[in-house]
Amino acid sequence: MRVTVKALVKALAISVALAAAAPSLGQNALTRDRDIENNLMMAMAWKQTAAEFRALYYQGFNIARLRVEIALAQKQEGSLPLAIISDVDETLLLANDYWGYLISQGQDFFDDASWDRWVEENRAVASPGALEFLNFCVSNSVEIFYVTNRDQGEATVQLAIENLNTLGFPFADAAHLRVLRESSNKELVQQDIKEDYEVVALLGDNLNDFARRYYSTDVDQRMSLMEEDRDRYGRDYILFPNPTDGHWIRAIFGESEPPASDANRRILKAAATRAAWAP
Ligand SMILES: [Mg+2]
Repeated sequence: MRVTVKALVKALAISVALAAAAPSLGQNALTRDRDIENNLMMAMAWKQTAAEFRALYYQGFNIARLRVEIALAQKQEGSLPLAIISDVDETLLLANDYWGYLISQGQDFFDDASWDRWVEENRAVASPGALEFLNFCVSNSVEIFYVTNRDQGEATVQLAIENLNTLGFPFADAAHLRVLRESSNKELVQQDIKEDYEVVALLGDNLNDFARRYYSTDVDQRMSLMEEDRDRYGRDYILFPNPTDGHWIRAIFGESEPPASDANRRILKAAATRAAWAP
């Protein structure tokens, strides 16, 4: 068999590449364990370190401020007072150290029991730009209504007010906080507020913060419902980023808080590889 120099060089290059890859493959196999393999890792590394994550909050609140400025300029004499309706968690308050705790404990799915303990400790921080935006609203006589699906039992309202007050959020009182423990349908509360206020915008990290029609366990249906409303985003609806929880999780798993199991890890993998190159 006649071997050309070109073929020989190619064969040599391949063997060098394989030799270089072999130790690292072996090393990966040795170091794979639950402690460093966690479903939440990439999302939380992004939340904890990416300037892009924080910039998206500033972007959202800058747009919200613009909407308020437009509403103030268009306000007619004798019209209803202006208001903003906002979700609380991952919209105004961030819980990065809760999610960091889960990962440090080797947990890779949300855990309701430890979440309730975390809420009690009052550790939430204000999201970037939240306080500045809400204070801008206050100085322009625009009221804030907080609408949340938190559920820490009878203590829910008191704990949420404490969290908001500790950080200096305005209107952090029982009259401006609506807690929905029985249902996550926020539309009834929105309608109630709209009887007395002109609502400038809804703020949230979950499409369900805007409209109940998005409460679907079908990923494609949820996507197409959002597409129908595409003109409302950045106008009536101001959306903030959340890659760790929300009803997008429910659409994948059929429940908002899926238990940690290999079956659910496989469902997550199927979602992540929905489109996958297979050369
Ligand atoms: Mg939220």
